[in-house]
Amino acid sequence: MQKETIAIHTGYDKKGSNGEMAIPISQTTAYAFRDSTHAANLFALKELGAIYTRLNNPTTDIFEQRYAQLEGGAAALATSSGAAAIFYSIINIAEAGDNILIADKLYGGSVTLFHFTLKRLGISVKVFNNDDASDLESLVDDKTKAIFFESLSNPQIAIPNIEKIVTVAQKYGIITICDNTVPTASLFNPIKFGIDVVVHSTSKYTSGNGTALGGVIVERDNLAEFFKQNKDRYPHFSTPDASYHGLVYVDVPLPNFCLRARLSLARDIGAVPSPHNSWLLIQSLETLSLRVDKHSSNALEVAKFLESHPKVKSVSYPGLKGDKYYDKAQKYFNNGKASGLLSFEVSTFEEAKKVIDSVKLFSIVVNIGDSKSLITHPASTTHSQLSEEELLKAGVNPTTVRLSIGLENTIDLIEDLTQALNK
Ligand SMILES: *Cc1c(COP(=O)(O)O)cnc(C)c1O
Repeated sequence: MQKETIAIHTGYDKKGSNGEMAIPISQTTAYAFRDSTHAANLFALKELGAIYTRLNNPTTDIFEQRYAQLEGGAAALATSSGAAAIFYSIINIAEAGDNILIADKLYGGSVTLFHFTLKRLGISVKVFNNDDASDLESLVDDKTKAIFFESLSNPQIAIPNIEKIVTVAQKYGIITICDNTVPTASLFNPIKFGIDVVVHSTSKYTSGNGTALGGVIVERDNLAEFFKQNKDRYPHFSTPDASYHGLVYVDVPLPNFCLRARLSLARDIGAVPSPHNSWLLIQSLETLSLRVDKHSSNALEVAKFLESHPKVKSVSYPGLKGDKYYDKAQKYFNNGKASGLLSFEVSTFEEAKKVIDSVKLFSIVVNIGDSKSLITHPASTTHSQLSEEELLKAGVNPTTVRLSIGLENTIDLIEDLTQALNK
């Protein structure tokens, strides 16, 4: 099936219910078992079904099936936020003493997660060059458990060298994790390029109107085989899990990465979505392709306008011919579409502040992917916890203004930016 169809139909059988056209919200904490054998079978994975909403929920399950198929993956696990999805994806395969290779251009919350929170848990990071990955191989060692990067980095709007990352990862048998939040599954499918695990913040374009926080982890087919072949690096998948009466994940005929994340991490940590948020995200998925196309064409128009404005020093938008990442966007993303995220440079910090304080339609919000257009100054907000050195390393300049172009008419957006720049 094609993506637009998957987003509307996968995982829901209208005939199996009361015929509700809209998917029911299973707003429940727990589920009644038929009898004690049924209960025992569910816990032993002999039968699959709902046990407790911290582990699974029928509404969330439909969202997971749809996202897994949209990414061309084998299975998905939904989480309460993108941050939770990233945290799970790392601690699912790494523990104290291990290290993760991370791109030098990442979301601010991921930078703090890796450099501070995971460090306190004994998981260290080594940073590689996102754009060419030329230093990646030299950073690999026996304790390297994952390579983590963003397909279109927020807020730097950079695109990595995915072929290079995949080549190094496959040579050493290391899991690759791609944060695909900004392009979404509509524009880009990392698994088709050889990536093992995809994570998302569904709070952004997937939600699309800023109403539901959420995250999702998607894994490719056949990871069990990969874990068998690389059991020295990933022993937890092929040795008995004492916390689950000796379960050996690679022996279970279910997609292994999400299985372990669900059975041990969702069980023990519980950062799962509420059924209502899963339902909101299901509504959003129905229009994902339409919206992402429109965000992309609107952003391209605004980028072209900004490029021609005398007060704008430069514009970063991978959909723009001549952009540093234009060729990669053409190669990786559906028809070269590049989402609604763009940034531009003005001459001074003061000028950046003036533009932000003068716009009327754009809201000053630390978010992206909303139907409403948003404007931010990363240096003083999303990335303000970083030192000046870390800021520069993260590619955030004090004169950078970031826009998340919404679904309004571009005539109005361009008029608003014009008056703000000319003030
Ligand atoms: C927002 C964002 C996150 C974090 O997601 P939340 O849903 O806010 O927890 C992670 N990665 C990227 C690229 C993001 O834009």
